[in-house]
Amino acid sequence: MFFELGLALAALHFGVPLGYYAVAKRWLRKDWGIKEDGGYRPKVSVIIPTYNEAEHIAQRLENVAQSYPRDKLEVVVIDGASTDGTAEIAEKWAEKAGVDVKVVREERREGKAKSLNRALGLATGEVVVIADADALWAPDALRRAVAKLADPSVGAVSCVKRPIGGPGIEEGYRGFYNALRVAESKAWSTPIFHGELAAFKREALEAVGGFPTDIGADDSHAATLIALRGLRAIVADDVLCMETVPEEGYHAWRIRRAQHLIQHFAKAVRLLRKAPRPFRVVLAAEAYLHLVNPWLLLTAVALLLASAFMGNILATAFLGTGALMLLYKPYRTWIVAQIYLVAASVRNLRTKEIVWNKQIKRGRRRC
Ligand code: GDP
Ligand code: MN
Repeated sequence: MFFELGLALAALHFGVPLGYYAVAKRWLRKDWGIKEDGGYRPKVSVIIPTYNEAEHIAQRLENVAQSYPRDKLEVVVIDGASTDGTAEIAEKWAEKAGVDVKVVREERREGKAKSLNRALGLATGEVVVIADADALWAPDALRRAVAKLADPSVGAVSCVKRPIGGPGIEEGYRGFYNALRVAESKAWSTPIFHGELAAFKREALEAVGGFPTDIGADDSHAATLIALRGLRAIVADDVLCMETVPEEGYHAWRIRRAQHLIQHFAKAVRLLRKAPRPFRVVLAAEAYLHLVNPWLLLTAVALLLASAFMGNILATAFLGTGALMLLYKPYRTWIVAQIYLVAASVRNLRTKEIVWNKQIKRGRRRC
C-alpha cells in the first residue's frame, strides 16, 4: 500500500514537470509576436536599490550610464541606510558623471520593495527599470528591453541571467530556468521576473499599485499583476544580465529566494481565474511546481522508505536507483531545488525575509 502510493506520488512529481517542459519546448519554437522598435527612445528611469553595496555601486552606475543615451536617462539610487558608505560613493560618482543621478538616503532600512515604491514616486521616466546593485547588464540589454516595450501589448520586460561565481550547480540551474522563462514568455507571459533588470511601462506599474511590500518577490509579483491585467510580461533571450552568486551562504540565499517565490505564487494563484487564457496555464503550472510538487517528492520518499523497512525489495530498489541517479547532474540539480523549496516553505512560517541578511558576494565580475 505504502509502496504503490509512494510510487504514484513519485511518478506525479517527476511526470508533471517533464510534461510541462515538453510543452515549454514547443513554446520555445514559437515567434514572439512582438513588434520591436530599436529606435524607440522613451525617457527611462533606472532605480538602483542599495543596502551595503559599497563594493558594487560605482561599477554598477558606470554600467547603467553606458546603457542608454544620457539625455534620456535618469538614475535614482535609493539607499536603505547603508552603513558601509554606499550613499557617499554614489553621491561622489553623481557629481562628476554628467548623468542625471539622484541619491536618496532613507533614514532606516525598511526592505527593498518600500524603497522601490519611494523611488517610483520620484521617477519621471515613461519606462521604469529596476537594477539591483550587485548585477551587471550586457551593454545592449537595456536598449533591447526598451525596444520590446515599444509594442503596445508589452507591459514589462526582464532579463535572462548568467551566473558569475558560486558553485557549479548554479550554471545548470540557470540554463534550464532561463529557457523555461523564455518559453513561457513566448507562450504569452512569465510569472517570474528578475530584479537584476526589470523594465516596466510606468503607467502599467502604477495601475497595479507599484510594488507589493507584504511579500518578497516584488518584481515578479508586479509583473504578474500586469500580465493579469492583459499586458504581456516577458523575459527576453536577448536581454542579458550577469549576476554575482554568493560564495558564502549560498544555501541560505537559494532558500530565501525560494521563500519569496513561494510567497508570490501563494498570493498570485488566488487570481488565477482572472488570468488571460494562455497565461493561466503558465501561472497554474508554476504555482503547482513551487507550492505543491516538492511535497510530493518528500512524501514519496517517506512512503518508499517505510515500505523498504517493511521488507519491500522493490521499494529498496527504487530508492537505491533514485540515490544513484544523484550522480547525474541535471537530476541532482532538480532534487536540490526541491529541497530548497521544502525548506523555504517551512521557513516561511517563521519569517518572510522582507528585510534580509546580505550574502557575501565575491564572484569575479566582468561586463
Ligand atoms: P538577492 O539578489 O536576492 O540576493 O538580493 P540582494 O541582497 O542582492 O538585494 C537586491 C537589491 O536590493 C540589491 O541592490 C540590494 O542592495 C538591495 N536591497 C536589499 N535590501 C534592501 C533594503 O532594505 N533597502 C534598499 N533600499 N535596498 C535593499
Ligand atoms: Mn542580488
